[in-house]
Amino acid sequence: MIRLFNTYSRELEEFAPLNPPEVSMYTCGPTVYSHAHIGNFRAYIFEDLLQRHLESSGFNVHRVMNLTDVDDKTIRGAREAGVSLGEFTAPFKRAFFEDLETLRIKRADDFPAATDPQYISRMIAMISQLMAHGFAYQAEDKSIYFRIKVFPEYGKLAHLNLDELRPSGRVRSDEYEKENIGDFALWKAWDEADGDVSWDSPWGRGRPGWHIECSAMATALLGEQIDIHCGGVDNIFPHHEAEIAQTEGVTGKKFVRYWLHCAHLLVDGQKMSKSLGNFYTLRDVIGRGYTGREVRYALLRVHYRAPLNFTFEGMDEARQALTRIDEWLARLHECCATPPLARENESQPARFRNFFDALDDDLNISGALGFLFESIRETNRALDAKQLSADEARTWLESWRRVNQVLVLEESSAATLSPEIEILARQREQARASKDFRRSDELRNELNARGYDVRDTKDGQKITRRGNAQP
Ligand code: AMP
Ligand code: ZN
Repeated sequence: MIRLFNTYSRELEEFAPLNPPEVSMYTCGPTVYSHAHIGNFRAYIFEDLLQRHLESSGFNVHRVMNLTDVDDKTIRGAREAGVSLGEFTAPFKRAFFEDLETLRIKRADDFPAATDPQYISRMIAMISQLMAHGFAYQAEDKSIYFRIKVFPEYGKLAHLNLDELRPSGRVRSDEYEKENIGDFALWKAWDEADGDVSWDSPWGRGRPGWHIECSAMATALLGEQIDIHCGGVDNIFPHHEAEIAQTEGVTGKKFVRYWLHCAHLLVDGQKMSKSLGNFYTLRDVIGRGYTGREVRYALLRVHYRAPLNFTFEGMDEARQALTRIDEWLARLHECCATPPLARENESQPARFRNFFDALDDDLNISGALGFLFESIRETNRALDAKQLSADEARTWLESWRRVNQVLVLEESSAATLSPEIEILARQREQARASKDFRRSDELRNELNARGYDVRDTKDGQKITRRGNAQP
């Protein structure tokens, strides 16, 4: 049984999707006005862990991640660069996909972009319905706002008492035109700063508000009711609260069954963010000599609801932890290749049940990794004492393969290789280490003959199944 902490109820709930084994999952994606920082990637890695754990438990996850490619920041960026909005956002979209790959994050099934005409039409249609139902109104500035006082549920996700919702800080002049300070924009009337970015609507030229983008893309691709919706805690209010109000205002149905939010990645106790300037992009961290795999580990290892402080010591710890896994796997592979012990061929129970039990408990990754390293210590002791049989080693490796489908932390693409190919790969590594190039060439030919390509890089050999090349 999988239990997840639902932000809506503030309780751990048994996970039961609407139509098992199908699971629909919507995850708020990046605003493509610059490179995403690793705080953003903490959110995407938590969502990746969730998806992979659900899949390893037998669910089929249909995941959507949107790209916000029109908002104040993208429009400002395009203007400053003197290019069209599309030209401005395209390289950041590309970089985002590269970063996902570097971090081994499984690609969503769909990456809808807000400016896609089919979604813009849907946003306009949803706003028209909200107007017709009395949930929305046009203010003097010609923008359309959601009227929160007619949606009694507003504030429930964030557990806010709306009477206490007072303006904080400086109130922008346009907010005086709204009926209520908490009313949020569904459609923003064109103004000069928008330049040539605008669409026609029944209320005049303008552009959608950020919140309606997600309501339209989520319901277009996943239907009116979805199982899981995720983001970072900063998305809870007002973004997700607004998504509920807009969607339920149109459909009259409960929009989301489970709301999951991850805590922030911090730097010196403060949220990593563009506005504070205390951020690192993935490229910054890679530029300091770390690998995507190390960043993945560093962002993955702490429970998603606990704040995580980013430090370079933490990166070094990630490196050490991965080295322990690598060395352990190398020893198990070696053990598989040794002659059988006397007590060979006993049937071996699968390992790592406790690892998956910990993940079932609201993705308790630190507990799960604790069990993994405990197992590594135990098997290493047995290997030291020459008490691990080849069968046992093979069982550990097979069980590890399932663990690695969730963690995706194995060094090379070897994660998808069969034990037989892995043994050849190890032998070739050993041959190269002892400068036996004739043997290493023979092993390369053998791997080629079995349909695998071998490349020697400065990080060691890379083995890929032909037709399935990885960068
Ligand atoms: P944004 O591009 O700001 O809309 O953020 C994209 C995603 O990253 C959202 O789900 C945010 O909640 C999340 N996010 C932003 N900053 C952080 C952070 N420092 N730690 C964790 N998640 C974050
Ligand atoms: Zn969103």
